[in-house]
Amino acid sequence: MAIATINPATGATEREFEPHGPAEIERRIALAHKAFTELKATTFAQRAAWLRRAADLLDAEAEGTARLLVVEMGKPIAQAEAEIRKSAKGLRYYADHAEAFLADEPLADPAAVGASRAWTRYEPLGPVLAVMPWNFPVWQALRFAAPALAAGNTGLLKHASNVPQTALYLDGLFERAGFPVGAFQALLIGSGAVAAVIEDPRVRAVTLTGSEAAGRSVAAAAGAAIKKTVLELGGSDPFIVLPSADLDAAVATAVTARTINNGQSCIAGKRFIVHAEVYEEFSRRFAERIAALTVGDPLDPATEVGPLATRAGRDELAELVQDAVAKGAKVLAGGAVPDREGWFYEPTVLADLSEDARLVQEEAFGPVAALYRAEDAADAARIANQTTFGLSSSVWTNDAEEQDWFVRSLDAGAVFVNGMTVSFPELPFGGVKASGYGRELAAAGIREFTNLKTVWKG
Ligand code: NDP
Repeated sequence: MAIATINPATGATEREFEPHGPAEIERRIALAHKAFTELKATTFAQRAAWLRRAADLLDAEAEGTARLLVVEMGKPIAQAEAEIRKSAKGLRYYADHAEAFLADEPLADPAAVGASRAWTRYEPLGPVLAVMPWNFPVWQALRFAAPALAAGNTGLLKHASNVPQTALYLDGLFERAGFPVGAFQALLIGSGAVAAVIEDPRVRAVTLTGSEAAGRSVAAAAGAAIKKTVLELGGSDPFIVLPSADLDAAVATAVTARTINNGQSCIAGKRFIVHAEVYEEFSRRFAERIAALTVGDPLDPATEVGPLATRAGRDELAELVQDAVAKGAKVLAGGAVPDREGWFYEPTVLADLSEDARLVQEEAFGPVAALYRAEDAADAARIANQTTFGLSSSVWTNDAEEQDWFVRSLDAGAVFVNGMTVSFPELPFGGVKASGYGRELAAAGIREFTNLKTVWKG
């Protein structure tokens, strides 16, 4: 895949970039290594001040950066700006909390281990490679960068090949905010060059957000080099609606959950599992709302759903729908590639999928919802847990016992009750099963890339 900005709304190539060659990759890794020796000698307060300055820059430049995101990956402009504001908030969150999250923890009874004193301390690891996707190109890169830099690590960002200008913007951001030169750099490389970076002894760990295939490949290379990984992979999250739910709120939220970011979110509700008692009403209202969405130019503030980010992604989505329909699925809304330039796909609702439809197992990375009818709560949980993924989940019920039962029964990294899944800096984020392992955000996220050092003093 070329490293290029290709506008998904038009299909036009706007800019192409030469990938970094071996000498430039070496220069950047060496710089990341050198910056680490400088950064780890700084105080939390100093790093927090730089993070706050980076947040201020993000905020001040949000309008222009938002346009860049739209041109590179097609999300509606208001959502692009919201992503940048949220990223600034994430930087400030770690500026405020990193020191407390990584504070030394003394052992209450050192005599029990024959010590006069014993404690643990968190130390940064060194340069960490972040392989990141295009769907939230600022937020996903910065939710790695904020805790990593706050802890005293340095970052090497291998961003998706279709968002090079966003990558270069982020490459300059932290240096402008005052961090040592090389503390956070982009590597303009294709996926084929990633394994060699992982193998480099100066690179100490890897985090990846993306597809299952990319996760397997990166984790295999990291495993061979005995390096820690955090993987945030795909999801096919259930959105479960039970008879006691507030149906107005559930329908409205279901539409947002499925179509935000043009349907390209790992934590989007993708499988709508509805109790038989409310199935007919929910599916009718949901399909009507999906069909009424405004699809168009993502730079137009009136647009609700823009194009898919890549032609390959759009074609893959169309194939998944065709496969489901060929195997008997009913189309309640959309279901086709519209006749216009760019990589659009009609917001779509499918029902009555057969068990062998690819969509039952695979992730629909675009505005395509699949409806499932559940006989009761246990059936809903069975359907929810039947995929290989386990990222997040959403359950709609006003019955307190049922809420607790679903919290325990859903095999996922998170359960949102009467709300859609959202990532917050304050809450750990990550999955189980083929959705990956490890956690980002909150205290858990900053501790992933640290050395928890035990100190014992006789
Ligand atoms: P990829 O997983 O291919 O891309 C994500 C990142 O991983 C990019 O930086 C990519 O680089 C890199 N990458 C891909 N393959 C490898 C590899 N073998 N070794 C090292 N790095 C690699 O996602 P796609 O954009 O191709 O999307 C495909 C599917 O992935 C989607 O349909 C969706 O199911 C899932 N996905 C999930 C995301 C999430 O948020 N969890 C985000 C994006 C995708 P490059 O761009 O150079 O190929």
